[in-house]
Amino acid sequence: MHPPIIIGGGVAGLTAAVKLAQRGLRPLVLEANPEWVGGRLRQTAPTEFSHNGRTWQFSQEHAVHGIWDGYVNFKALLAELGIQPNYVPAQDETWILGDGRRVGRAHIGRTIRHSLIPAPLHYMQLMFKPSFVRLLNVHDWASLPRVAGGLFAAMSIDPLAEQNPLHGLNLADMTSGWSPHLRALFAGLARNALAAEPSQIPAAGWIAFLRFYTLLRRAAWGFDYLPAGGGTAVCEPLAAKIRDLGGQIELGAEVQMILQGAEGGWQVQYTQNGRSHIAPAGQLVLAIDAPSAQNLLLASPDTAEQAAMLTFPQGIPTVIVRLWFTATASGVSEAGMFSGDFCFDNYFWLDQLQDEYRAWREATGGGVLEVHIYGTPHLLEQPDSMLIKQVVQDVTRAFPDLRGSWVQAIVQRNPATHTLFSVGGRGVHLGIRTPWPHLYACGDWVYHENPALYLERAVTTGLAAANALLGEANLAPHPILPHPAPERFAGWLVGRWTAVRLRKLARKKG
Ligand SMILES: Cc1cc2nc3c(=O)[nH]c(=O)nc-3n(C[C@H](O)[C@H](O)[C@H](O)COP(=O)(O)OP(=O)(O)OC[C@H]3O[C@@H](n4cnc5c(N)ncnc54)[C@H](O)[C@@H]3O)c2cc1C
Repeated sequence: MHPPIIIGGGVAGLTAAVKLAQRGLRPLVLEANPEWVGGRLRQTAPTEFSHNGRTWQFSQEHAVHGIWDGYVNFKALLAELGIQPNYVPAQDETWILGDGRRVGRAHIGRTIRHSLIPAPLHYMQLMFKPSFVRLLNVHDWASLPRVAGGLFAAMSIDPLAEQNPLHGLNLADMTSGWSPHLRALFAGLARNALAAEPSQIPAAGWIAFLRFYTLLRRAAWGFDYLPAGGGTAVCEPLAAKIRDLGGQIELGAEVQMILQGAEGGWQVQYTQNGRSHIAPAGQLVLAIDAPSAQNLLLASPDTAEQAAMLTFPQGIPTVIVRLWFTATASGVSEAGMFSGDFCFDNYFWLDQLQDEYRAWREATGGGVLEVHIYGTPHLLEQPDSMLIKQVVQDVTRAFPDLRGSWVQAIVQRNPATHTLFSVGGRGVHLGIRTPWPHLYACGDWVYHENPALYLERAVTTGLAAANALLGEANLAPHPILPHPAPERFAGWLVGRWTAVRLRKLARKKG
């Protein structure tokens, strides 16, 4: 029997590989990136520059990641393997609202997660916060009942459990009629969450995000940072474990086509260092991003016909800009979200999160800022120099203490592989078990009834794909931990609102 092949060495593929290797199956991971495993959690090329006669080198990553309270399988996987990053707990997040010269700020993260009011009413605690209240005007107050109605509607639908894509409905539709500030707040939150413009964000993806990350539990909005880049802290140690357990990882191995073998297995055609290879596999795990999965399945004659009937989430590009300063900003938390007329969507003070960047602050008294730009095509198309100019201008508008202290910037353009999370209809959204024998799928876009998104979804589906494959070989499955249940009141409301909605639907159909 040929060993299983995992196509893609992101978090989902590495999870599946380590779980198979733990059962003695010696998987082969084929990863297209020539240098690093980890996919969207990988390292990227380090940056080096001189400042005041000293040469500085910083390792880089795809983007800073938050490890949220509900990431039970992600954390359990690392703990079980003895990979124990010293997580850095998030303190607070500042919402910064830009409107020309007027810039408003409110610290909202801690208030939401430590609210005294039970979910889903916990956001009401913000009304006792003068900085938040000052950002609202009379139109905002008038539109609060509509906002509450929208949130309650989100409680009555569980798009993942129901496999309900809410066809044709996007976030812009859900927030139409809301006041401009509240729309801006939610647009900012949605861009941070799903990395796209409200009109691009499918309502089902938005509701799934709200339910998992904030609506049903106060603590769900709590999270940690990794103490170093995700590649260093998570993916490289995970890859080392796979190798220790007898698995193999080939970098720079880009799979071009998969073919069903005569004896029920698969043949995987890939290129590496400009040469073509064919590897036989007993079973395959497809662990690549959604656009690459769609391309591969359509390019492979044995899968093309059925793949053409599936829907795949859109892949979106992101841009990350890192800026070094000789000053720091006062009165803001270590991270936060922008909305209004800023050209970026969120920020992270790396010198408060990662040791390597702390050294810069200790030596220069300055900070290092990472900002993310999501879903604004005209901005993403600008050359680096223009983008940096605009980002620096907006950064000094948001943080006036930084004026005249900018030293260095790098722009990192991430390919359009990031999942714009959506839920496909029954039978058209690829799940763990695919329409093809001995071929399983995992990744942050793959259908599974669990409510998690992103890294936790990558790990959960990686575990589920490994278990499905182990089942074929009559080997014991690995446990998949349940995700935290809603708070009592939220749980009761979810049941009630769902019942009301279903009764309404039944009446309509009747
Ligand atoms: C800017 C940004 C910020 C983010 N922040 C967070 C966050 O704070 N918290 C969070 O949970 N998540 C965050 N995410 C999302 C998170 O990174 C992803 O959900 C997760 O890494 C997805 O893992 P994956 O294994 O499913 O896919 P990927 O990481 O995309 O892995 C797929 C792998 O397949 C490889 N591949 C593709 N095609 C082929 C082929 N033909 N042959 C071989 N290999 C191939 C790719 O090179 C890649 O390594 C963020 C993402 C971005 C872009």
